[in-house]
Amino acid sequence: MTGFLTEYQLRRWTAHAFWLTLVGAPACGAQTVRFGDVSDSVRSVLGASWRDDSTQSERAYCVRRARIVARVISPTKVDSIYDILEVRPAHVVAASPNHVEFECAQGTPELHTHTPATCYADDPQWCTKGGPDAYSCQPSRADYEKLVDRGDPFAIIQCDRVAFRFYYPSDYVAPARARPPGSGRRESGRRPSPQPVSPRRLR
Ligand SMILES: [Zn+2]
Repeated sequence: MTGFLTEYQLRRWTAHAFWLTLVGAPACGAQTVRFGDVSDSVRSVLGASWRDDSTQSERAYCVRRARIVARVISPTKVDSIYDILEVRPAHVVAASPNHVEFECAQGTPELHTHTPATCYADDPQWCTKGGPDAYSCQPSRADYEKLVDRGDPFAIIQCDRVAFRFYYPSDYVAPARARPPGSGRRESGRRPSPQPVSPRRLR
């Protein structure tokens, strides 16, 4: 049986009118599964702004109103549901087909687009519609680093007209600290893991 934690309800206003309603508090130490929902009104606004041309730059928005609900599945399992209720265009400092530079007010989560094109340089002339990077819903390393630096609970990528990818600080886990040479058990006979290829894109 599921139920909602109702220990407290917090409504917080900032100078920039973002508010976040947090219903319930996830049980400390519980295993949490996160779900992101975009309201119909937000989806229609962002869908109407979506374009299919290959030369566009990425765009950015600030989440002005959201609600996070914790739903208790069991004493050790909690679902966190992130409802996005309102977004506004962000003030963009610089943008290209491969990145967008912007900053929402502190405490205001961010959303940016990934385009339906593959670009081999920041200049739009090197972009083609489709290709391996089109409709990418994968946050880049820079996207994760910005999220963690800002301390927001989530961020969102719009990667198609009505497709949204939520990502969370817990997705970006730092590697375990290396042990000093000679300490601990040797992983004998195991080949080193292949190093990941550096991403071409800086999205
Ligand atoms: Zn990105």
